[in-house]
Amino acid sequence: MRACDTCGNDYWMSFEIRVVSGETYTFDSFECAVQKLAPRCEHCDCRVIGHGVEVSGRFFCCAHCARQAGGMGREIRDAVGAHPDGSAAGAGDGAHRRRVGQATAGERSDG
Ligand SMILES: [Zn+2]
Ligand SMILES: [Zn+2]
Repeated sequence: MRACDTCGNDYWMSFEIRVVSGETYTFDSFECAVQKLAPRCEHCDCRVIGHGVEVSGRFFCCAHCARQAGGMGREIRDAVGAHPDGSAAGAGDGAHRRRVGQATAGERSDG
């Protein structure tokens, strides 16, 4: 394998990532891959290592940052599924509620 494109380490377990432009990079760790390839949030400057939020061609780490930067993304939510109070739209709210209930029960049994 080639040396890591971020730090230069020639590691036997290094791996390659091919990006959308077709270029291929070699890394010795996910940390080095994030350092080289992950975009930065245009509001708070943190690395976007999850899906992030794209609004009008600009990238943010979360819905909050998208709203803060010029008031974009007012309709964007970070939540998946529906809020427990039922105010958010979306499918699968029943499953989400069950998961929240299990987490609460687990905390009680641990404590
Ligand atoms: Zn490296
Ligand atoms: Zn951000």
